[in-house]
Amino acid sequence: MDIPGKACGSCSLCCQVLEIEELQKPAGRLCKDCMSGGGCGIYSTRPDVCRDYECLWKGDRGMSAQLRPDRVGTILMEDPDSDEYRAVCDPARPLAWRTPLVFNHLVAMAKSGRTVVAKAGLKSWRIHATGEWGPCV
Ligand code: SF4
Ligand code: SF4
Repeated sequence: MDIPGKACGSCSLCCQVLEIEELQKPAGRLCKDCMSGGGCGIYSTRPDVCRDYECLWKGDRGMSAQLRPDRVGTILMEDPDSDEYRAVCDPARPLAWRTPLVFNHLVAMAKSGRTVVAKAGLKSWRIHATGEWGPCV
């Protein structure tokens, strides 16, 4: 069920940033079916992976409107293959995760015990509960 105030609107960052094997779409390249201004050009026939996807901002009443992914250049998501809490950035804004609104959120998640990683393309950084951060090796 949609949460009031949590519509994707003009955001289409997941359609750009994430790899979608079903569409043979590499990470970082905007899907060919994404419409300018947001929205899916094949909405009624989009693959299940698109149907099922929802970033954490969209599903969390507690995250402010300012954290909408296109506004901060960062998608907040659980990594499906590990217990990492991830900030996946628009490759055009690889350090978007360091904007105070996002960074403070990531430090709070690290303080709660999560393993927090920011990613932009092939680069990744670990964010610690102390507020320190550094490249993943
Ligand atoms: S990143 Fe989140 S808010 Fe943006 S289009 Fe995808 S699901 Fe919607
Ligand atoms: S098919 Fe539609 S929802 Fe899926 S990535 Fe492309 S534009 Fe986005």
